[in-house]
Amino acid sequence: AKTQRLDKILSHIGYGTRKEIKGFIKKNSVRVNGTVVKDGSIHVDPYQDEIEINGETICYRDTVYIMMNKPQGVISASFDPQVETVVDLVDASYRVFDLFPVGRLDKDTEGLLILTNDGKFAHEILSPKKHVPKTYFAMIQGKVTEEDVIRFQEGVVLDDGYKTLPAELNILKSEDVSEIELTIYEGKFHQVKRMFEAMGKKVIYLKRIAMGDLKLDETLALGEYRELTEEEVGKLF
Ligand code: URA
Repeated sequence: AKTQRLDKILSHIGYGTRKEIKGFIKKNSVRVNGTVVKDGSIHVDPYQDEIEINGETICYRDTVYIMMNKPQGVISASFDPQVETVVDLVDASYRVFDLFPVGRLDKDTEGLLILTNDGKFAHEILSPKKHVPKTYFAMIQGKVTEEDVIRFQEGVVLDDGYKTLPAELNILKSEDVSEIELTIYEGKFHQVKRMFEAMGKKVIYLKRIAMGDLKLDETLALGEYRELTEEEVGKLF
């Protein structure tokens, strides 16, 4: 079995800095296989030994998958010297994981964003060949019509001449301000906004509500997040 230093394991999975871990150990709040540990430098097998901290059994992992309900005003990046990023919204205990957002939502777009440190996973989801569907709820200035539905079904030519793949437009409300759901199978820059622009219409509110079979957990307030379950991670493939 592969063993590692206990303090390193604990800090790796987000229980704090090595110094903070030392504090936990001093307070007798760390146990390995039921026995209180006095020395953080002991070697344990994180996959085999039962490690408890503050009475909580830890689940060792190398990778983390987070679902966030992204608020407006933060950018989909890991770090920015000026602007708050989605990674800044995540608790400091996750810093060790080097999280990054899987794809991007515009600064003024809300909703489902996945953060992970698993590059392979992100790559799979973002791969243009996979066509992972993304579903958005949007409010549109003006009436959205059945004609728009058909145009979207056929694919829309964007301002740069690119013709989108067929997209499913669902009209929820067609009034001066319309409400729609749209599923697209690719992720071009500002795609939803540009698809409506091509119809002469303006997106005034945009929220992603699903990726693949994974739906945004509506109990998450804007800016809140939680880890994905194993089942949910599987849903994205
Ligand atoms: N399409 C957009 O125009 N913006 C987003 O943030 C996502 C999809």
